Amino acid sequence: MTNTPAETESAGERFGRELRQGDLILIEGDLGAGKTTFVRGVARGAGSTAHVASPTFQLVRVYPGRVQVAHVDLYRVEASAELGELGLEELLDQGAVVVEWGNRLEAPEAASLSIEHLGGDRRRLRMQRDLTR
Ligand code: ADP
Ligand code: MG
Repeated sequence: MTNTPAETESAGERFGRELRQGDLILIEGDLGAGKTTFVRGVARGAGSTAHVASPTFQLVRVYPGRVQVAHVDLYRVEASAELGELGLEELLDQGAVVVEWGNRLEAPEAASLSIEHLGGDRRRLRMQRDLTR
């Protein structure tokens, strides 16, 4: 549970410190749940100093770091998509891939996190499937 954006960001940062090349993390949660906030922390944890913004109007933003983080947002992708169609396999060869609206991606092996809006500034973060490696 987090009570501020900063807490969600630091949860992301702890997670980002563990990231390795080839990791795929799907994040689900409604608009405003805190997905981008979490990814901001992930990028920090992965050693990036890049500005992290929602790639809602792009498909992907790439942050170089100790591990490169590709930040994907599938908000504009209607049906379920596959890794290959989106060109994500190449990004997984280069680093980690973190996907907002990750429930729209067919990737049964991926780690998955849900963020729930509990009202006010409270959020519940739940690791539904952890990284398996
Ligand atoms: P999403 O990417 O899921 O649409 P964002 O991370 O862009 O969500 O936005 C989350 C919004 O909610 C931000 O305005 C942030 O300041 C606010 N917020 C309030 N409390 C929290 C919290 N505990 N965790 C994350 N964001 C929070
Ligand atoms: Mg977002």
